Amino acid sequence: MSLDLSTSTSIVLFGPPGAGKGTQAGNISIFTGKPQVSTGDMLRAAVKEGTQLGIEAKGFMDEGLLVPDNIIIGLISERMEQDDASGGLLFDGFPRTIAQAEELSKIANVSLVIMIEVPDEDIVERIVGRRMDPQTGEIYHVKFKPAPFDVSSRLIQRKDDTEDTVRSRLDAYHMQTKPLYDWYIEASKESHLRVISIDGRGSIQQVSELIENELRR
Ligand code: ADP
Ligand code: ADP
Repeated sequence: MSLDLSTSTSIVLFGPPGAGKGTQAGNISIFTGKPQVSTGDMLRAAVKEGTQLGIEAKGFMDEGLLVPDNIIIGLISERMEQDDASGGLLFDGFPRTIAQAEELSKIANVSLVIMIEVPDEDIVERIVGRRMDPQTGEIYHVKFKPAPFDVSSRLIQRKDDTEDTVRSRLDAYHMQTKPLYDWYIEASKESHLRVISIDGRGSIQQVSELIENELRR
């Protein structure tokens, strides 16, 4: 079945922490024209601004736990009201629970779900070596995607990108998020939804090609 990504349908991108969702989302967004919506980025912005929502979310994020569904659903409902949402969105890191997916199905028409799969043993190295350019939001890695020399002095490391926290985040992924794959497979039997699983173990470039090949099909 070929995909019609020109319509107002949305895309869901999910996978374990550090799988490469943020890294790949930029390309997918350019390829499909769908604006990227990252609940992680929205939550970090709220924490930085010190909003009530940010204060509520911070403790969960620092512990590597999922932020409660009602907070996330509130954020997404607000985002859906913006003008650019009418052509469909690329959701990066949302939904992360079946309850979130159920809510999303009421307010958006999801036509494609992309799961990026990376084994737990590769995740720790990716997370601990992740760095971000606070000026541009560009994601780097000390080994896999080193920053240019003039950028490296301003790089920051996320507070939750520690070996300890990543264990809790992986537990949350396996218990609460991974079941979404089967949930979406079931949903796809009664709709035009397409669910694809991408092997995220290769290089950034290799994973981009796997995803682009799927998007072209
Ligand atoms: P990663 O890039 O490592 O997958 P994110 O930046 O997407 O992490 O999210 C960082 C943290 O924000 C998560 O560990 C979790 O606490 C919270 N978070 C982000 N999105 C969601 C969501 N959809 N549901 C619940 N919590 C979320
Ligand atoms: P997520 O959004 O899923 O948490 P990111 O896109 O932030 O993941 O990637 C996590 C870290 O791993 C970043 O430092 C990124 O540069 C690096 N990374 C992303 N994809 C790959 C890949 N295919 N191979 C090696 N490192 C990668």
